[in-house]
Amino acid sequence: MGGHPFYRFCRSALEDIRKQGRYRQFTPLARQADRFPVYEQGGDVQAVAAADGREVVVWSANDYLGMGVEPAVVEAAIAAIREHGAGAGGTRNIAGTSPLHAALEAELADLHGKEAGLLFVSGYVSNQASLQAILTSMPGWICFSDRQNHASMIAGIKGARGASCVIFEHNDLADLEAKLAAAPKDAPKLIAFESVYSMDGDISDIAATCALARKYGAMTYLDEVHAVGLYGPEGAGVARRDGVADQVDIIEGTLAKGFGVHGGYVTGSAELIDYLRSVASGFIFTTALPPSVVAAALASVRLVRRESW
Ligand SMILES: *Cc1c(COP(=O)(O)O)cnc(C)c1O
Repeated sequence: MGGHPFYRFCRSALEDIRKQGRYRQFTPLARQADRFPVYEQGGDVQAVAAADGREVVVWSANDYLGMGVEPAVVEAAIAAIREHGAGAGGTRNIAGTSPLHAALEAELADLHGKEAGLLFVSGYVSNQASLQAILTSMPGWICFSDRQNHASMIAGIKGARGASCVIFEHNDLADLEAKLAAAPKDAPKLIAFESVYSMDGDISDIAATCALARKYGAMTYLDEVHAVGLYGPEGAGVARRDGVADQVDIIEGTLAKGFGVHGGYVTGSAELIDYLRSVASGFIFTTALPPSVVAAALASVRLVRRESW
């Protein structure tokens, strides 16, 4: 095995990674649904330590609220599997759209005060597919991207052939304004940023960013992945907390962190969502989220919206 030059490349690259102390080892841990956040050391043969059933308390998970083990959420998934089976059975265009998908999209649009919402198989895919689709729509797009934007947004921006990307310094509105002012007046512009940044947990000034967007005729794309479920009334995020959700063109989020389940989404105007539904490759050419996942996410979102605890 390993005659092709690629395999030699892999070996030396992995050696470098090890030398730099960046080599990753996974420790399989079995989450205990009835004892959040307790996990048990798994029995996987690749486990670093012996599978001794040792208990581990995990504070690094991003199911921040434990919604993934909430009984109502778990029961919703089980009921949906019994009724509809384990998989979606198709892409959204071909047999994969259930009433549950439609209900969750309407729920998320309502959560953010937008006309429409669109589900994706993950938050990563929602960012990558939506940004790529928007930035390849018309010629000459310029995307203004915060330096600490998540890899999924960067993937979408880089994947948009023909669009250019201007990186502004992290949370630096003066730098953003200077770069907006220097760009051609009539080029279509989009500002892509986050509300709660995933690496440092700092929060952006959404109102001021939207004010700059208005001044320079730019659209705004906001990743609220680390905010939804946690900030603002009904867990609707920082834009809603700050009373400026209506000023943001596109609000993106995940169902896998604060909401504890799985999947990603964008919300915005009915026209924009209709366009993404029709052209975004990462939306069209993949099997829809399973009904059980959608039912669990719907139960989670509804519970978070209703319950102040
Ligand atoms: C985790 C994360 C995503 C991706 O969401 P998933 O649903 O886990 O794919 C997108 N953006 C940010 C800022 C994130 O931290």
